[in-house]
Amino acid sequence: MRTFIASLFHRNRPGRLRPIGLPRALHPHLQPGLWEAFFAALGVPVVLSEPTTRATLERAELISETEHCLPVKLLDAHLEELGGRVDRVFVPRILSLHRGFISCPKLAALPDAVRAQFRGRFEVVTADVDENRRPLEQTLAELGRTLGFAPAESTAAARQALAAAASPAAPIADSDRRRYLLIGHPYNLADAYLADPIVRKLEELGVAVERLPAGPPRGAPATLRWDTSAHMLEALCALDPARCAGVIQLTSFNCGCDSMAGPYYRETLKAAGIPFMALTLDAHSALAGLDTRLEAFVESIAGRA
Ligand code: SF4
Repeated sequence: MRTFIASLFHRNRPGRLRPIGLPRALHPHLQPGLWEAFFAALGVPVVLSEPTTRATLERAELISETEHCLPVKLLDAHLEELGGRVDRVFVPRILSLHRGFISCPKLAALPDAVRAQFRGRFEVVTADVDENRRPLEQTLAELGRTLGFAPAESTAAARQALAAAASPAAPIADSDRRRYLLIGHPYNLADAYLADPIVRKLEELGVAVERLPAGPPRGAPATLRWDTSAHMLEALCALDPARCAGVIQLTSFNCGCDSMAGPYYRETLKAAGIPFMALTLDAHSALAGLDTRLEAFVESIAGRA
């Protein structure tokens, strides 16, 4: 009986409304707006880390496992910054974001990797995101209950969050002007520090450019079953060479998915006659030499026209 009463007390304590930290790195970019909307619907204040800067990259390289890819290293740096401001953070275990597809294996180990990295400096709140096993609404509702909210509150918050986040990927703009397409995992493309200099440089060179919008793979037969990689491959298969001047992939050092998927992108574009260039980011050289490579790429394409 004492255990039961203690558990009731625990479930109802105001601590369930303690602020929770969300990094501006990795998982929030995979499901834009979802987690902010969910915690807000529960009345839990969300504290975001500061945007990525050069200092974030340097810190990431200093504190994180050398074997991690850049986005996971950056996650560590963002969480470290949050650790000074909140006593809990949210890091999901991501197994599948879209039914029929799987996510990068590194995302399945995120909560464990973060706990090992920070060793009790803050609580790691987590949830298993696995669309192949159960719909996201159930995952969210269960997370709400785990955090001490009533079932009805949790379900309502789950529905609100899904409604807030449900914006289908914008189609790539239809324009007469030939354009360059920037592809990459959503957390790379959405990080202004990583992707904006590329877009700015291309615009300075006088060419039209757009980023591949985040979105689900459409379920077309795809060689790749990793969700973000399949999304990129599907987008490349649909490109019209008369409208696409070239494709630039923003990839990360130590990315296993990109090293497997890159040849498919290259072959697909070669068959379509669309020039392709991959830019690899790591914490040391991020964006170094970028201008020269972009200028050479654009000039070589202009020379062919
Ligand atoms: S897909 Fe690549 S960049 Fe993304 S988490 Fe996995 S290994 Fe890292």
